Amino acid sequence: MTRLAVISDIHGNLHALRAVIKRLDAMGIEEIVCLGDVVGYGPEPGRCLDLVLKRCRQVVRGNHEDAVTDPRLATSFNPVARRAIEWTRRSLLDRHLEMLRLLPRLAFVGDSVMAIHDTPVGPIGGYVYHPRDAARAFKGVDTRVCLVGHTHVPAIFEAQSTGKEPVRASDVTNSILNNGAAARLRSGRRYILNPGAVGQPRDGDPRASFGVLDTRRWTFTLHREEYDVDAARRATEQAGLPASLSQRLAIGA
Ligand code: ZN
Repeated sequence: MTRLAVISDIHGNLHALRAVIKRLDAMGIEEIVCLGDVVGYGPEPGRCLDLVLKRCRQVVRGNHEDAVTDPRLATSFNPVARRAIEWTRRSLLDRHLEMLRLLPRLAFVGDSVMAIHDTPVGPIGGYVYHPRDAARAFKGVDTRVCLVGHTHVPAIFEAQSTGKEPVRASDVTNSILNNGAAARLRSGRRYILNPGAVGQPRDGDPRASFGVLDTRRWTFTLHREEYDVDAARRATEQAGLPASLSQRLAIGA
């Protein structure tokens, strides 16, 4: 494996997922890791799950997988997310629910890369938005690279640290990733990389977001892919899901 595609937060948006897989096929990238939240919010959770499990080498569980399989956990969600979780639970087949229960929380790809949905340290569902969040999260990172999703915002955090020694927020740099630009991952540093969301981007760009990690050249490249947002919105509305979930797809927020 030299090029690994990193996808996350598909959220039942089959139109976006298919567009990303098509692009990966065109790029000749076969290895894919998925960072969870395959379901929740969107209208086609079962078909997304089938496609992800067929194509991805590793899939970890997200907080929406947790809430779909354990209703008690959905009580901490906001009302719109909770309605979508209940809708998702009703619409999935038993075999899908069983698949969700079997997903691991953490996965490793080779010796240098770990993958988790939210953060390797602290409460499940914690977010890595800022250098201070990343500094805390690095305490749980033994590998050169830790892949996370959950925020729906692409990000790259670099720590001036090679081992398990504590990382201060002032030692962490946070850079913005632009579409198509490769960030170089320097030796002697550790990284937390977020590919953004395939199915519900929240950084103001409605295009599907994913990353490619090259473990020979040690680069991480962000990609944005156009997909049929209008069709995804129609499917969301026809499923009877809250209107706000359709609206946010149009603006990427
Ligand atoms: Zn999510």
